[in-house]
Order: sequence, then C-alpha cells, then structure tokens
Amino acid sequence: MRILVTGGAGFIGSHFVRRWAAGDCPEFDGAEMVVLDRFTYAGNEANLAPAAGHPRLRVVRGDICDAAAVGALMEGTDLVVHFAAESHVDRSIAGAAEFVRTNVLGTHTLLQAAVDHGVGRFVHVSTDEVYGSIARGSWPEDHPLRPNSPYAASKASSDLMALAFHRTHGLPVCVTRCSNNYGPYQHPEKAIPLFVSNLLDGRPVPLYGDGTNVRDWLHVEDHCRALALVAAGGEPGEVYNIGGGTELANRDLVARLLELLGAGPEMVRTVTDRKAHDLRYSVDCGKIREQLGYAPQVGFASGLADTVRWYAEHRDWWEPLRAADRAAAGALAGASC
Ligand code: NAD
Repeated sequence: MRILVTGGAGFIGSHFVRRWAAGDCPEFDGAEMVVLDRFTYAGNEANLAPAAGHPRLRVVRGDICDAAAVGALMEGTDLVVHFAAESHVDRSIAGAAEFVRTNVLGTHTLLQAAVDHGVGRFVHVSTDEVYGSIARGSWPEDHPLRPNSPYAASKASSDLMALAFHRTHGLPVCVTRCSNNYGPYQHPEKAIPLFVSNLLDGRPVPLYGDGTNVRDWLHVEDHCRALALVAAGGEPGEVYNIGGGTELANRDLVARLLELLGAGPEMVRTVTDRKAHDLRYSVDCGKIREQLGYAPQVGFASGLADTVRWYAEHRDWWEPLRAADRAAAGALAGASC
C-alpha cells in the first residue's frame, strides 16, 4: 500500500508521518509513504528529522497546484491524506490569495489527479472553523457552513469540492473537521507556541480583545489517531468531526500557561481584537465516536505541560522561526486560533 501525505512537513502532517515511522500507526503498518510538501515558511525539514532514513518514506519537494507533479505522484497511490494548506487565520486576513491558491485550487488539483489515477481513498483534512461561530451547543456534521475568515472560507470551499468529487465522480473521499490542535512542532505563529516562546523569552503574551473567545483543544496525537481511523474505516462521502472535549476561553488558556511557566498576570498585554473573530467553536463528535470508536486519549493538563516542556527544551527548533517572523514585514500582533 502507498500513502501520499500532502503537507507532511507541517505541524500535523509531520506528526502523522513520525507516528507512522515510529510504528505507532497499526492501520498502515508496512505501507510506503510519500510526502509532498512545498516547504513554505510552515514546512520544516526538522519536523521530519526523526523519520529521516526510514526505508519506506520518500519526501518530495513540490506544489499541490502543480498538476504534472501531482499526477506523477498519484500513479500507484492507494490513499491520500491531504494536510497541505495555508493555515494561519491572521495571514488570511492580511491577504487571502495564497489561501485560495493552495487550499482551493491545490485541493482541486489533487482531487482531479486522484480521480484520474483511481485512488482508493482520499482523506481531506479540514477544520471546525468552516462552521463559523456557535454561542451554545455543538455542530453536527450536517450543519450549514458559515465560515467567517478567508482561511475558513477557503477550507469550506475545498470541503465542498471534495464532497462534490465523491458525488460526481465516485471518488472515495472522507472529510474531517477538527478543533484546535496543540503539541510539539507547531509553528510559533500559532497561539500556544507563541505564548510559550514569548514567556520563555521573558516577553509579554499578546491576547486578543477581552480573551473570552472559546476554543476546543485537541492534542495532535489524538487528531492523527482519529485520521488513521477515518483513513482505514471511514465511509466514503462522509464528514467526521474530531474534537478534544476541552473548551477553554483564551484568557483561561493564558492563565494555565502563566502558571506552568511561573509568570504573573503582568505578562499579559491586551491587543486589538482580530477582525471577525469567531467567539466559540464546538464540534459534536458523536459520529466518529460511535462509528469508528474514536476517543481522545491525551489529557489536556498533561498534554499542555508536556508541550510547554518540549518548547523549553527545543529552542533550537523555534528560535530561527521566531527570528524569521520578526524580520518579516507586517509581523502579526496578536494570537488566537
Ligand atoms: P501547517 O501550516 O503547520 O502546515 C502546512 C504544510 O503544508 C506545510 O508543511 C507547508 O509547507 C505545506 N504547504 C503549504 N502550501 C503548499 C502547497 N501549495 N503545496 C504543497 N505543500 C504546501 O498546518 P497544520 O497546522 O499542520 O494544518 C494541517 C491541516 O490541518 C490544514 O489543512 C489545516 O487546515 C488543518 N487543521 C489544522 C488545525 C490546527 O489546529 N492546526 C485544526 C484543524 C484542521
């Protein structure tokens, strides 16, 4: 069996690859894996270093919008797990062109190539942000999509394209919609690594608005476990929500990080709120729990403490990324997910 993993050098994709390379993905024991990644600012060879040299892993530097390159890789592929995306909401507010290009056109390029080459399964990795914002309750998978940010709109567009390729061409697509991930190797532009790396450097934490925006946190290991379940046993044409069951307001998340890092409330700086900042995300995970036996296994308190420890011990990984971010024009002021 051959698996094509797009975006396998990013945060979640590289966890999926490292997990498989370490023998922790029984669904795909013995499979060959090909990573296709453009190595944008978010793709990082260091993320794949623990898997480097694996005899059944090949890493290809390339663009999911390149139909010729994608077609060549799709030949002989049994399963696609599609992570590649522009993924940072704030960047999509600053300019959405790359989001439309990669997330919409790139996904379409992959879907068409998968149809052309008779790929047996295509898992499209999406986000709970496609649903919009919900004050109370949780979204089931058939809830209408009401994305608010350009990032979420580009992901919603690609979700719909993926499902249309199932209905029109019979491509065995599954779409997953996951809540906020955290864990090691997450780019320090995202909330938890930004807050942690700032505090480790003695810098204040930028908190958007009044900090009451609520997110549901899921450890990246649990997300990848769920994706393997969907890839192995999901029903073609179906959407699966994936959540962590740990809802926290951003200000409560910051309070936990301050405590873990021994810092006081004076280290929090309120910054102007993000435009169209979604108040709350919450997915109903009953379907994947009942149909595929999924349940998150990493407790939030221990997962967060381990993540903080990882960043404290891996300055060599994140310091160059922070330096590049600071050097880039229009550095982003606040952080949320
Ligand atoms: P990331 O930004 O860390 O990684 C994205 C990867 O895609 C990078 O390696 C990048 O180089 C690659 N890439 C970008 N454009 C490409 C292109 N045109 N061709 C080939 N490769 C390209 O993202 P992530 O946080 O790991 O998210 C992975 C997927 O999961 C995304 O589709 C995202 O929408 C989804 N998701 C993320 C979260 C989260 O909390 N991070 C939650 C739910 C869903």
